[in-house]
Amino acid sequence: MTTITRFAPSPTGRLHVGNIRTALHNWMLARKAGGRFMLRIDDTDAERSREEYVDAIREDLAWLGLSPDGEERQSERLEKYDAAFEALKAAGRVYPAYETAQELELKRKIQLGRGLPPIYDRGSLKLTDDERSAKEADGVLPHWRFKLEHDEPIRWEDGVRGTQKFDPAQLSDPVIRRADGSWLYMLPSAVDDLDMGVTSVLRGEDHVSNTAVQIQMFTALIAAQYAAAKMPSFAHEALLVGKEGKLSKRLGSLGCDAFRERDIEPEAVIALLARLGTSQPVEPIAERARLVETFDLSTFGRAPAKFDETELDRLNAAIVHQMDFAEVQGRLPGGMDEAGWHAVRPNLTHVGEAADWWRLVTGPIDQPDFSDEDRAFLAQGVNALTWSETPWQDLTATLKQATGRKGKELFLPLRRALTGMDHGPDMKELLPLIGEERSRARLRDAATG
Ligand code: GLU
Repeated sequence: MTTITRFAPSPTGRLHVGNIRTALHNWMLARKAGGRFMLRIDDTDAERSREEYVDAIREDLAWLGLSPDGEERQSERLEKYDAAFEALKAAGRVYPAYETAQELELKRKIQLGRGLPPIYDRGSLKLTDDERSAKEADGVLPHWRFKLEHDEPIRWEDGVRGTQKFDPAQLSDPVIRRADGSWLYMLPSAVDDLDMGVTSVLRGEDHVSNTAVQIQMFTALIAAQYAAAKMPSFAHEALLVGKEGKLSKRLGSLGCDAFRERDIEPEAVIALLARLGTSQPVEPIAERARLVETFDLSTFGRAPAKFDETELDRLNAAIVHQMDFAEVQGRLPGGMDEAGWHAVRPNLTHVGEAADWWRLVTGPIDQPDFSDEDRAFLAQGVNALTWSETPWQDLTATLKQATGRKGKELFLPLRRALTGMDHGPDMKELLPLIGEERSRARLRDAATG
């Protein structure tokens, strides 16, 4: 059976790292099994869904390299939900409920006040036909609940959490449809999973209690309408939290836009999120295939995964150090060639910093003040400079011999004179890029102050 996974964002905002992580894990699960990864846009909430977010979700997934093998939109599948609703109603698994939000809130408060769990009391299910007709004659439009079977225990083997058991009598019959006919998340999602042949549902642990309810929904739908379909398997990953260990607002708004703005490579985001919260080490792995190969739900921990932005920067630097010229060419300053990239690459945390280092080559540079001794030394440098394949090695060897200087005394005044900086890319690689004329002029400027 082909593995089919899906990522099902609601287009009510931009993707954040939590969503991105779920998308990535679903993508990896499908890739590893040679299966299909689907994008499902959960846009039944017409008021809060925005087309610009649908576009942004597609763009973000493309930037991350998580291209879906297909896309579905819930807003285009409303007849399917109607049909499933009618089938469940005919099977006695959906019933109208007439309580107002205030009435429900009051019931809840009373239950809590008595120390009882706030489970819906099935008041509407207990109405007689006459009472129901009276409500309708009064113009009260019902919303609709799915009726849980209290004697059908809920149990599943969760891919991350192990055996999960719920007592349906301890759950409220979920509202699946509002009085205006619009859908809540629960039923459309189950219908889509069956209809699209989803084999593995992998999502955040905030959905565990939804899964409990949906398990009965899946069973009821298969019996009523989808005889050929199979219940998917379920796995719920621990949530992503800030490095302090708390759910953070910041993470909720940290997404691809912010990563791009901070010049973070998609591969760094992927390498971090692929293994965060698992027992496998987070490493700067730039090859997707290696991450996919090692992806394994059984390594996922139950504790929240901690997202640390400094770890992301560290990974980014390590990923940048592996990038080839061809991959970054379009993002480098004009004139910077492959040798230039190789010279500055080890000094970068972000690709954008290449431009700063490249200015050391093209100039102008700001030289510090030199002592008289160093000026005399640099004057000797002007004369010692010869041009070959290895001008830096030649220059330092000649000066070492002539002056007896070595180590920092030898190298630092030269580096300062030639680049204006105390540190930076390897001078062996930099000097050929600076070129003979500029090198000579810089040494002369430094020598003459
Ligand atoms: N639209 C739902 C959400 O974003 C999908 C959950 C699911 O994966 O079923 O939470």
